Amino acid sequence: MSSLEELREKVKQFNLDRDWDQFHNPKDLIIALLSEVGELAECYRWLSSEEVFKIHLDPLKKQKVSEEVADILMYLLTFSYKIDIDLLKAVEEKLEKNKLKYPVEKSKGIHSNPLMGFKGVLKNSKEDFE
Ligand SMILES: [Mg+2]
Repeated sequence: MSSLEELREKVKQFNLDRDWDQFHNPKDLIIALLSEVGELAECYRWLSSEEVFKIHLDPLKKQKVSEEVADILMYLLTFSYKIDIDLLKAVEEKLEKNKLKYPVEKSKGIHSNPLMGFKGVLKNSKEDFE
């Protein structure tokens, strides 16, 4: 059993012990997950790029971020066992699809924004990839 599966079982047992699974339908789990993502985003709201990196140097602030990330993962794990998705398998499969969709030679150093289009420079020479 992978550590992710073990973690999922611990989260499941936590929920079962409290009889909370009765509340965990997929819609409400997604809403809870998004709420936790919002709490994580709130940690960064209105901070400059410089301030964003500095908060990770403060142990108490980093702990708060860590707890929000944990909340997100716990809801994702709960969602995955409720609808029977193998997260590791899903990520492995999606990663393979993404490798085909975004080949290194066409994607390295480039990202896009729906409003601003592509950003970055397509590197053509072989040396640029090493
Ligand atoms: Mg939270």
